[in-house]
Amino acid sequence: MNKRELHPATRAAQGLGWQCPVTGAVVPPIHVSTTFARGDDYELPAEHDYARDKNPSFNQPEAVIADLEGGVDALLFSSGMAACVAPFQALRHGDHVVVPDIMYYGLPKWLRGFGVDRGLSVDFVPTADMNALAAAVRPGKTKLVWTESPCNPVWRVTDLARAANIAHDAGAQLAVDSTAATPVLTRPFEHGADLVIHAATKYLNGHSDVMAGAVVAKQKDGIWERIVDHRALTGPILGSFEAFLLTRGMRTLYLRVQAASQSALAIAEHFEGHSALTHVLYPGLPGHPDYDVAKRQMVGGFGGMLSFRVKGDAETARRVAAACTLFKPATSLGGVESLIEHRGTVEGSESLTPKDLLRLSVGIEDADDLIADLEEALAAA
Ligand SMILES: *Cc1c(COP(=O)(O)O)cnc(C)c1O
Repeated sequence: MNKRELHPATRAAQGLGWQCPVTGAVVPPIHVSTTFARGDDYELPAEHDYARDKNPSFNQPEAVIADLEGGVDALLFSSGMAACVAPFQALRHGDHVVVPDIMYYGLPKWLRGFGVDRGLSVDFVPTADMNALAAAVRPGKTKLVWTESPCNPVWRVTDLARAANIAHDAGAQLAVDSTAATPVLTRPFEHGADLVIHAATKYLNGHSDVMAGAVVAKQKDGIWERIVDHRALTGPILGSFEAFLLTRGMRTLYLRVQAASQSALAIAEHFEGHSALTHVLYPGLPGHPDYDVAKRQMVGGFGGMLSFRVKGDAETARRVAAACTLFKPATSLGGVESLIEHRGTVEGSESLTPKDLLRLSVGIEDADDLIADLEEALAAA
């Protein structure tokens, strides 16, 4: 059977069908060596020479991620943040970038604290708003437009095809942090994106036990070569065991994301209009500002992430999170267990996140159990 005819869920479940060529093991071995000997001809038997960059344990997970996204190449990093900053590290002094005003809080913190000092010119704009994006790009000067879709923690969805056109018309590339969408729900390259970034710590691994990030390329161009060199020279990589765990996690990616999306939609629909809440933020609700874009662009579901705004203040929100028993009051997202978090507590003073906002990462538990847990916590708080 031709590989191209297979559904991506099949390819993910089988890790692209990779086996150990020596033993036939259906789970390829974990390589722990940091160095690789040359043969009698002084040639390398494979392209591996030193594990700072070319660890054979990365080959399978990188191939799976590139395949699922429909890219030509993928690189693993030691964390989602290491992957996020890699494209910015590849830019040059004076380059202009446009990034969202609301996004995963670590990246703007790095850009303000380090990127600007290294000569990047950064504009923070609502990148889901096409007029704002078009006004922010500077033809010839802007090298990178960054978007996150759906974006933390309000789950705005960017129309990627329109954003790609705006970026390309200005001579810039479009990079998409697609952590919350995963390749199950959105494949940004199909909409014109040039780079896809994942905090693989989240859904790709899915079990809250690996830190990892990935950058995926649509084409091997100049910026990609510099990202490759950046990783090779500085080594922000994960360990071999973590690379194995990530491949194992991705085998169930489709099942997990579909289950989480279904439950998140059920929770969003149940709590919309609830007397203890002012807003339920979820792109699968018709009242969400980007519902139409999400319906067009997200395939088979709207993801496992949503947010509540509670009637009350930050203290009320924290009391709700603490009163949950199934939802664990913890940061992060994308694992099989549900989490709830008051983002204002971790995001710091520059954060634009409403103080009454709770972020929910819906896991794969039974949806009725999760709804009952939230009802009890809202009643108790
Ligand atoms: C968590 C997250 C990151 C950072 O990933 P780490 O693995 O925690 O470094 C980046 N982007 C998004 C959207 C995230 O959710």
